[in-house]
Amino acid sequence: MAYKSIISYSDIVRREDIMLQRGMNFRIQHRYSIILMSVRKEAPYKDRWHPDTGILEYEGHDEPKRTGIKPKKKDQPLKTASGRLTENGKFFEAAADYKTKKRKPELVQVYEKISVGVWCDRGKYELIDAKIVSDGGRKVCRFFLRPSKAPFRSEPFLKVTRAIPTPVKVEVWKRDQGKCVICGSKDNLHFDHDVPYSKGGSSITAKNVRILCARHNLSKSDKIMSFAPWFATLASAIISKTG
Ligand SMILES: [Zn+2]
Repeated sequence: MAYKSIISYSDIVRREDIMLQRGMNFRIQHRYSIILMSVRKEAPYKDRWHPDTGILEYEGHDEPKRTGIKPKKKDQPLKTASGRLTENGKFFEAAADYKTKKRKPELVQVYEKISVGVWCDRGKYELIDAKIVSDGGRKVCRFFLRPSKAPFRSEPFLKVTRAIPTPVKVEVWKRDQGKCVICGSKDNLHFDHDVPYSKGGSSITAKNVRILCARHNLSKSDKIMSFAPWFATLASAIISKTG
C-alpha cells in the first residue's frame, strides 16, 4: 500500500483548521481545495487511482438526500435550484478554466479513507480535467487530478513515526502477527529495531524491526501502547484484507 502518511480524522480537522462535513470542499478555508475520497468497496462514490500515471479520477457528488428524492437516480447537479454553483460546479468550472488557459490548475489536498477513522494524507493534486459522463442512465461528474509538484507538507502528524515509518510498523505488525517474536506475548509490546535514531528513518525497513514484549525488549524501542488506537484498527484491517 503506497500511502504517504496515516492520519486520523481529528488530525485532519486540526491540520486544516475546519470541520470537513462533506467530500468536496472548494476553497472553504485555504487557498487550496480539499477532497475526501475512497476506493473501498462500500464507498459512496466511484473514485479510482490510475496506477500508471498516478492520476486520481474522482466522482462528483449527488444531490443532498431529502424526502422524495433518490440522489443515486438523479443527475449530479452543477447548480443548485437557486442557480448557485454546487461543489461539482465549482470544481467543474475551475477545470474548464484551466483547460482554456484562463488559470493555473486548482490545487487540491487529497485525503483517502482507508478504514473507519483511518485516513491517508495523499498530498496535493492539481485539477486538470472534468467530464460529465453517463452512468446507469444518469449524468455524473468525473474529475481528473494529477500529483502536484508542490512540496509535500513536511511536519509529522504523529511524533511516534519519527523513528519507524508507519508503513514499516504495519508490515512488521502483520508479519509478527501482533505478538512478541520470542515468547508470543501480546501484552506490553514494543517495536524493537537495530538502526539508531541518528541514522534516520529512511534506513529502517521491516527487516530490521521486530515486535518484542517488555521482558524481551532491548533499550531501543518504540512502545506500541503509545499508538493512537486507530493503529490497531488499521493493522487488523490490513491483516484481514491480505491474510
Ligand atoms: Zn517476549
